[in-house]
Amino acid sequence: MPEMVFSKRFAAGEEIFRIGDHGRNAYIIERGSVEVSVTRDGAVVVIAALGEGEIFGEMSMIDDAPRSATVTAIEDIEVLVIQRSRFQKPLSAADPLMNLLLRVLLRRFRNAQRQLMDMKTETGEIDPSLEEIRSLALHRITLERELRQGLEAEEFELHYQPIVTLESGHIAGFEALMRWRKRDGEYVSPMEFIPLAEDTGLIMELGRWALQIGLRDQLRFASRFNAVFPDLPPPFMSVNVSAVQLSELTEIDLLATVIEQSGVKPTDVHLEMTESLLVKDPDHAVEALNKLKGLGVSISIDDFGTGYSSLSYLHQFPLDTLKIDRAFVSNMDKSERNRQIVRSIAHLALALEMNIVAEGIETKTQFEALREMGCQHGQGYYMAKPATAEKTVELIESRPSW
Ligand code: C2E
Ligand code: CA
Ligand code: CA
Repeated sequence: MPEMVFSKRFAAGEEIFRIGDHGRNAYIIERGSVEVSVTRDGAVVVIAALGEGEIFGEMSMIDDAPRSATVTAIEDIEVLVIQRSRFQKPLSAADPLMNLLLRVLLRRFRNAQRQLMDMKTETGEIDPSLEEIRSLALHRITLERELRQGLEAEEFELHYQPIVTLESGHIAGFEALMRWRKRDGEYVSPMEFIPLAEDTGLIMELGRWALQIGLRDQLRFASRFNAVFPDLPPPFMSVNVSAVQLSELTEIDLLATVIEQSGVKPTDVHLEMTESLLVKDPDHAVEALNKLKGLGVSISIDDFGTGYSSLSYLHQFPLDTLKIDRAFVSNMDKSERNRQIVRSIAHLALALEMNIVAEGIETKTQFEALREMGCQHGQGYYMAKPATAEKTVELIESRPSW
């Protein structure tokens, strides 16, 4: 049996391992020093220099993930090599909970490290200290625990924003937007907690909950709406669905059950998803979308124009609506180019017989310009900000028209 700990030398400039390698060893520096680097946008960025007595490559002791950095000898060095097998036995013999804990901590640490690197390169500042990485990891762990507890304590709410038919100025439907109201009364933005919920898998439960509550409130809105506008069709309810939720076909079955049991007509249910779902795994996306379409619901592509999509792939998918990202809408007044983009998307949607919702309408000028371009629907602060279900009922009863 080979020795599990042994000494090894590397010459100055020699690479000990590369980013992406499948590493099985950790190293302790006995003599000399090394440089730890990562690649950002094609450039090599040194993130740390380590000297005698320091350890590197230690994460691969616990998991099998590829190396997250490259390590190079700065001068001739001597290291103690610790083989993974040295740890595998004690690790598998360890209490399963301990084993799990180690892996979970490691995964979070890697995530935090990656996040921090992205952050740092944006500000042009690098070399995250262990302290910074640790505090970021701690922040995430705390937030994740609160998220779990918040779900149990029913701290989540849905707010609703009307989607308006631009031609008539009447409400056509609502988008359900999640809010997390913590015990201290403070709201946490979905931009902050949705990515975390996706990382941890909590999005499955949270997303199902949103669909259930959104559809329950749709019935309530529809009945008030019918009393106020007996001649108009009932408002649809548009609910956001994360690509993570749709990554498992069994989860789609659960969503289907929620829809079937809601009592809402499937044609009044719209599901919004981003382009990432279609781009990452188109074959799976087709299967998932067909499954949803089979229920009779409408599918919307959210934030259209911001993703990596080429327009040509759109027709492969059973899509009903394009939601033009608010970045284009808010800049319409500023540049002809943005107006041109919006116009092209509107024409494209028309050609593909898809419906359009322009997001983020903040001014009357934008409202009118979009109506002239042939966008059927719009949504934005100019008409109404997202509000609680109670406020939404009040809004309906005020017989709004824009
Ligand atoms: P989104 O789906 O693009 O939602 C539209 C966002 O634009 C909402 O932000 C809304 O409040 C905001 N908005 C609407 N009109 C205007 C406007 O005129 N001007 C400006 N500046 N903003 C406007 P919100 O509620 O903070 O939601 C942020 C994102 O969080 C959503 O972006 C969506 O990606 C995600 N999200 C929210 N609820 C859910 C959910 O239930 N499930 C999932 N998976 N994601 C959700
Ligand atoms: Ca949306
Ligand atoms: Ca959007």
